Amino acid sequence: MTTQLAEHTDPNLAAVSTLERRRLDMQVRGQYQVVRELGRGGMGVVFLARDVALHRMVAIKVLRDEFVTSEPHRERFRREARLTARLTHPGIVPVYTFGESRDLVYLVMQYVNGESLAHRLPGVAKLSAAESLAILHDLAQALEYAHAQGLVHRDLKAENVLIERGTGRALLTDFGVARVRDSSPDLWEREHASGTPHYMSPEQAAGEPDLDRRSDIYSLGVLGYLMLSGTLPFDGSTFTALAAQHIVKAPVPLDKLGVDAPQPLVRAIMRCLAKERGDRFATAADFGTAITRITADNADRAVRRKIGARGWMRVTTVFAIAAALFGP
Ligand code: ADP
Ligand code: MG
Repeated sequence: MTTQLAEHTDPNLAAVSTLERRRLDMQVRGQYQVVRELGRGGMGVVFLARDVALHRMVAIKVLRDEFVTSEPHRERFRREARLTARLTHPGIVPVYTFGESRDLVYLVMQYVNGESLAHRLPGVAKLSAAESLAILHDLAQALEYAHAQGLVHRDLKAENVLIERGTGRALLTDFGVARVRDSSPDLWEREHASGTPHYMSPEQAAGEPDLDRRSDIYSLGVLGYLMLSGTLPFDGSTFTALAAQHIVKAPVPLDKLGVDAPQPLVRAIMRCLAKERGDRFATAADFGTAITRITADNADRAVRRKIGARGWMRVTTVFAIAAALFGP
């Protein structure tokens, strides 16, 4: 079994990227002007391009050159395009079109002007409770929708969440290993493990075939844990080491990591990380409802804190004036 390569910018792959870019330039010339590379994952290299006819920017994902002759990889890419094309939701990056030739497979989608959560996190170490809540809220809604369409994403992670600049909106992308409910595993799935080891649910890590939406809820919990604490629940350099921890080891409770977040949020994240799927939130909608409630309480708490601080400032100002007037 092999797992996807980690998403990264590897300087050794720069030459490969040039090859992909050259092929893309040739293939789409006249239709799109390729501007620059936006990012890369285990499967593809994503470029920013300008749609010449429509005068808008788009993102084009190209299958990595090393996979272009592999039929399972090409099929996985086609599958991703078809599955994503079924989805229309503000929290999911929409697909515009798909194309392939002998030496290129590509997917044109909406360009999200911003950065992936994975890109963002190292710079800020961790996010505030308010920011984490907003992202979890958007992702819960996107997942609720995808699940209602019969899809399990199976690869929810910081690299596959894009944060739009300006609005702070979170969009879910990369349905490359998504699974249609009740379908039998295809060529790709029979040969590859799905998901990324750090985010895998215990049942996914154990290779169970019947993953349901609660597997995505576990991965959402991993993401929440990472946003609030700046660390992943489990670390390890091999698939086996990580899989074993997801299956049997309890994560360090978030409170022990000095996280500044309301208790109900900490409890909600830890509940997503339950080993038994029956102990997690049953649906993304249930999790979303909990997040909405915690967001409202958190906002109230912030307002109360502000009023408290202002009230205190008023008292100290009165004392200062009194001291100036009546002091020695
Ligand atoms: P892979 O299937 O290889 O994992 P992804 O679809 O996850 O590829 O994309 C890899 C990276 O490219 C993302 O982590 C992100 O940084 C960037 N990216 C992907 N899609 C977009 C988009 N629509 N707009 C902007 N950047 C994107
Ligand atoms: Mg990805």
